[in-house]
Amino acid sequence: MKMYKCPHCGKDSISIIKKAMLDVRYKSKCSNCGEKYGPPSYTSLIDILYAITYYFVLTASFEILIKTMIVILILLMHFTINILFIPVMKK
Ligand SMILES: [Zn+2]
Repeated sequence: MKMYKCPHCGKDSISIIKKAMLDVRYKSKCSNCGEKYGPPSYTSLIDILYAITYYFVLTASFEILIKTMIVILILLMHFTINILFIPVMKK
């Protein structure tokens, strides 16, 4: 599986799953050097957009099945954006 470089030691120590789940609220530790990394702070603005979107989906008068599907789609989109576009920064 593809691995991503730690911004501290440069080793390919970040798994694609860890990259997908990057969250500005939590710092992750490199399994090689033990230093902390995370997404850039501007992703907190993107998180607000996700939160607003979830709010509208969950309060809309859709069937529960449709709501679940939309939430899963947004989550997949979120993970894909993290993997493809969000860089890993030193924390
Ligand atoms: Zn490292």
